[in-house]
Amino acid sequence: MTALLELRNVTKVYSSGMFGRATVTALADVSLAIGDERPTIIAIAGESGSGKTTLWRLLLGVISPTKGQILYNGIDLTNMGRDQRREFRREVQPIFQDPFEVYNPFYPVDHVLAMPVRKFHLAESKRDERRMILDALEMVGLRPDETLGRYPHQLSGGQRQRVMVARSLLLKPRVILADEPVSMVDASLRATILDSIRKMNRELGITVVYITHDLTTAYQVCENIVVLYRGSIAEAGSIERVIKDPKHPYTRLLVHSIPQPNPKRKWGGDVPMVVAGEIGTPQDACKFVDRCPFAMPMCRESAPPLYRITRDQVASCFLYRDAPVLQQDAIGDVLAPAGEPSTPATNGRKAHGEV
Ligand code: ADP
Ligand code: MG
Repeated sequence: MTALLELRNVTKVYSSGMFGRATVTALADVSLAIGDERPTIIAIAGESGSGKTTLWRLLLGVISPTKGQILYNGIDLTNMGRDQRREFRREVQPIFQDPFEVYNPFYPVDHVLAMPVRKFHLAESKRDERRMILDALEMVGLRPDETLGRYPHQLSGGQRQRVMVARSLLLKPRVILADEPVSMVDASLRATILDSIRKMNRELGITVVYITHDLTTAYQVCENIVVLYRGSIAEAGSIERVIKDPKHPYTRLLVHSIPQPNPKRKWGGDVPMVVAGEIGTPQDACKFVDRCPFAMPMCRESAPPLYRITRDQVASCFLYRDAPVLQQDAIGDVLAPAGEPSTPATNGRKAHGEV
């Protein structure tokens, strides 16, 4: 199987501090594969500092891994030719956490919509270009008369984010990589934006990587989930399984702390957040050992591999050491189970493919 997007043993180390002497391992040996059999929505979830934005930037090819490979359609991002790169730039579109960063304050928002159409020669005529822009705005539930001709600061945060979603749609991408797309917009607009993400997947056949610190929204829109903890995959699999029956002690902690009435409260209650590489445990211990209620001596001696607990659920925890170790090339099977979802959708969430 050639995956649409794949990470092979990816490690990303940043140097920071004075003279770059301190290093932070933002991602440690992460492997991931998103299949291309059919469009899906996959969540990458984790608390602040767990490496989500690093993963997003790596997938977009704007930073390169310290170790390992990132592949799109089987081609290493660092080895792409000019044409392949151009195709990649159109087919894989980012959505930013803070859309304001993307806008030029001196141009009306029409500019960010027209630019990609022109850059990739997508329209035959001016009229065609306008038609495309109107269609894209409609798809995200924006009224052209309330959007076009306005300057970025004249729009609300939610409108700005929806214009960005419309912008990515114009390019008819295969993949959308969205880094916490609703974390800066208020609750009332969150649903609208999540809805357009769902529509992109169902109606336009786009695969969406939805990066979030919020399990509730992940559950609402995603089919599969990867839970990151301090730069490593703690648990991954079908979202029904992971949320309904979390296996990793960290995921359990997270799941049991939803719903979160106060969005400012960090995951995991009052347990202090630890940043990768900061803590006194040996390098090769389980990263969760100091917070884990089930910690065993072996957890301090080595880091657990991912165990395949069921067909579509893996966890990096020695509690499951009787299960087979996940083979590197099988991660795609765990995350993209063929055919129907393994359990019927509940909780008002529609199953993938339903409209
Ligand atoms: P998240 O998006 O989940 O909050 P990030 O990927 O932004 O996580 O960060 C992961 C870790 O890498 C954090 O410890 C962060 O401080 C560090 N980090 C991120 N970007 C840089 C950078 N450019 N230079 C140094 N450290 C960084
Ligand atoms: Mg981030």
